[in-house]
Amino acid sequence: MTYRISDAISALDSVFPLATQDGWDNSGLLVGDAGAELRGVLFAVDITEDVLAEATAKGCNLVVAHHPIMFRGLKRLTDHDAEQRIVAMAIRGDVALAAFHTPADKNIRGTSGTLGRTIGLKDMKILAAEADALCKIVAFVPTGHSEAVVEAMSAAGAGHIGNYSHCAWQTGGNGQFRAEDGAKPFVGDMGVVHHEPEARVEMICPRRLAPKVMSAAVSAHPYEEPAIDIVPLANRHQRLGYGVVGDLDKELTVREFLQMLKERIGCESIRYVERSQTIRRVAICTGSGSEFVGSAVGAGADAYVTADMKYHQMVDAKQEIMVADIGHYESESVTKQIFKDILKEKLPNFAHYETHKGANPIKYY
Ligand SMILES: [Zn+2]
Repeated sequence: MTYRISDAISALDSVFPLATQDGWDNSGLLVGDAGAELRGVLFAVDITEDVLAEATAKGCNLVVAHHPIMFRGLKRLTDHDAEQRIVAMAIRGDVALAAFHTPADKNIRGTSGTLGRTIGLKDMKILAAEADALCKIVAFVPTGHSEAVVEAMSAAGAGHIGNYSHCAWQTGGNGQFRAEDGAKPFVGDMGVVHHEPEARVEMICPRRLAPKVMSAAVSAHPYEEPAIDIVPLANRHQRLGYGVVGDLDKELTVREFLQMLKERIGCESIRYVERSQTIRRVAICTGSGSEFVGSAVGAGADAYVTADMKYHQMVDAKQEIMVADIGHYESESVTKQIFKDILKEKLPNFAHYETHKGANPIKYY
C-alpha cells in the first residue's frame, strides 16, 4: 500500500479538523509536497534541527509536531535563526513538516483529554466550550420529503447534540411561490401562485460544516430553488474548546494528588498552590492555560492542572482553587503518542516513530 503525505494529513484532520484551529495558529502542512509518497513519519512536540536530522536518519519524510515551526510568514531563508535553518534544511532534505496544534488542544481526544484519561478522570467535559462555533440551518421542505432532507443533513454533520444524532425540529406550514420564465417547478403551474404544504426543518450544525450541510440539504431537496436559512447561535459548542474537567474515582489528599500526577504524567517537579484539603474534581488545560483558571473555578474543580502560570496568577488563584503547574512540555509530550495512535489506526502497516531527540528543552537543576 502506497500512502501520500496528504493521506497522513487527512487522517489527522479527520480526528483534529484543521478548520477548528484558532485564528493565530498555523496548523496543517507547512513545508513539503502533499502528493509525495510517504516513506515514514516522526512525531515530536517541537521541530528542532536534531529532530529533523533524526527524521532523515530514520528514513522519514514527514515530521508531525504539536507546535508549528512557523507562526508568522517567513521573509527570508538564511542561516540567521533556527526557524529559517530548519525550514531550509527540510526543503533540502525533502522532508515535509506539519503541525496539529490548537485542533488537538481543543478536542477531547487531544492533549487535555488524554491527560485526563491518564490520571483517571471520569465523565470528562470540555472546560471552556467554544463560542461562535455553532449555527442553525433551517430548511423549508415539501411534506413527504423532510425525512430525506434530515437524513442528508445528518450525514453531512448537522443534528448532533451530546450522544444524540439526527436531532431536528419540524413544524408544518404553507409555502408559496410563482414559477417565472425559465423555471422548472417541481410542483405547480407556470405563472400561477402555488401554495404547498411544507415542513420547516431546523437542525443545529457546527459553523465550519455549514457549507457541506447546505449542499447536502440542496441535493436531497426536490425544489429547484430550496429556501434554506443559516442562523448564527450564541450556544457554546460542547465538544470543542480548551481543557477538560472531570472527577477522580475517589478523593485524594493534596500530597496524594501531587504524587499521582508525578507518577502518571512523569513530571520531574510540580509548582503548586493549595487551597482545599482534598481533591476530587479536576480541570486540566495543557500548555499555557492561565486564562482558564476562572473556567476551572466555575466548573467546581478542586484543582487545576496546567502550565506557564506566573507568580501573581498563582497567588491570585490560591484564593479559589489549587493550581498545579506541571510544565509546558510535560503537559504536551503526550501529543506524540496521540498522533502516532491515530496514524497507526488509519494508515496501518506503516513506519511511525516518536522522536528520541525532541526531549524537554527545559531542564531542572
Ligand atoms: Zn504548547
